[in-house]
Amino acid sequence: MGQQTGIQPKIFYHHMNLEQRVPRTHLLRRIQEQIDFNFIYAEVRDTYGGNGNVSIPPPVILKMMLLLVLYNVRSERELMETIPLCLDWLWFLGYDIDSEVPDHSVLSKARARWGVEAFQKFFERIVWQCVEAGLVDGSKIFVDSSLVDADASNNSVIDTRSLKGQLQDSYKKLEARLEEKSESTDSPRRYVKENSRYISSTDPDAAIVNRGKSKLSYQVHRAVDGRSEVITATETTSGDVNEAHEMIPLLESHHLNTGIRADTVVADSKYGTIENFLACHDQGVEAHMPDLREVLLKGAQKRKIFGEERFEYDRESDTYRCPAGQRLKPKSLHIHRQSRDYAAPKKICAACDLRQQCTKNKSGRTIKRHLRQEELDRMREASRSAKAKRDIRMRQHLMERSYARGTRYGYDRARWRGLWRVQIQEYLISTVQNIEVLLRYGSYLKRSPSVMMEQIKGAIAGDIRSFLDFKELMNSKIGQMVLFSFIYPRRSFI
Ligand code: SF4
Repeated sequence: MGQQTGIQPKIFYHHMNLEQRVPRTHLLRRIQEQIDFNFIYAEVRDTYGGNGNVSIPPPVILKMMLLLVLYNVRSERELMETIPLCLDWLWFLGYDIDSEVPDHSVLSKARARWGVEAFQKFFERIVWQCVEAGLVDGSKIFVDSSLVDADASNNSVIDTRSLKGQLQDSYKKLEARLEEKSESTDSPRRYVKENSRYISSTDPDAAIVNRGKSKLSYQVHRAVDGRSEVITATETTSGDVNEAHEMIPLLESHHLNTGIRADTVVADSKYGTIENFLACHDQGVEAHMPDLREVLLKGAQKRKIFGEERFEYDRESDTYRCPAGQRLKPKSLHIHRQSRDYAAPKKICAACDLRQQCTKNKSGRTIKRHLRQEELDRMREASRSAKAKRDIRMRQHLMERSYARGTRYGYDRARWRGLWRVQIQEYLISTVQNIEVLLRYGSYLKRSPSVMMEQIKGAIAGDIRSFLDFKELMNSKIGQMVLFSFIYPRRSFI
């Protein structure tokens, strides 16, 4: 039995080669092989001056931020302390074993210098790489949002309308922060905070949201493609922003990022608003989402009054027939709501036997009809089809998976304060999740069966690139099994 005695650290190490220490299949080596970090030079060139100290090279800073998220390191200080201990991290950053690691403050300074755009570009480049690898179908997107806990305590919230609150020191700090914010050029384009009365003095961008428990929160909105679950668009807002308003911007971002126009959007009932249905109608997009109105109608049934479906519309006379057989005629037009009210004369409703079941209003029952009701009805009808229901069921698992994978990288808790910093965090996490997909399916041996099926169809249709892909595909066992599944669709080979 050997004894370990007199351990003396070596002063010099020979045959120490980081290149050989990092295995060929190591995650960071695969990332290094697949991802080009040098693009960042061109993106951030304008943010550096010509004089002063030479900065840490931007690709190194970007890689450090990637490590921070990929390994969910608690803080930047801890990241910098860990780098010299990990040979694979040193190799990934292009450092040697005795390289000097920079101070942790370089990361926060780089974020402030580069702004959100640099990280957005990084995210978009990875999405495009996924598109080129055939991992994005693009025709159908799944949309959902999730809350992110802000890095601020509930005790920091003050009521801006109360005099007592205004006398506190924290209010003065808040005022200073808000002033700083209005001067800053980093403020995002389309950001409207809805609840402006209660504000956190430490993070004024976060909003109090009550979902069982009141918390200061941000909200992350994502569009995910169904083929390999690539996140094709993402947005971050304050927690109190209505998620329904983010659906169309996500649809547009998906188009910009992938170059493919989605023809179907799948979402839950919170997105099933009149505005979203009509916007989808105008863009020729199928809206597979439960109708929000139906949820409200269920509420009306609970209150034991007749639902709107009990009122029959007659197009010729432009009137409704109520359950008592009376005519409800057009009454008033609401331009801002784009709707018209229909009602029976007050006297008739007052004398009606069904009144208790129909309305609690003294003036009688009113039915609202949208000016584009027929288009709306068509969209709502399509959202009830068997195909739409299948998509809605699939959405729940797919989106939950996307956010559950994000928790591995700490998406559910903001690392930093301020909306623009949380946006950076979300871009980095979504990028890491997409890189994960790229590495999983990027090689032919592990490519998803649906992608292979597309290549087989393309090769049969005579597409040259698909044919070349197909030839390579046939060298793998799984590729051959997919081909057999295509030829004999009733038998399962995979
Ligand atoms: S209350 Fe008025 S609208 Fe309702 S059923 Fe009676 S008459 Fe018709």
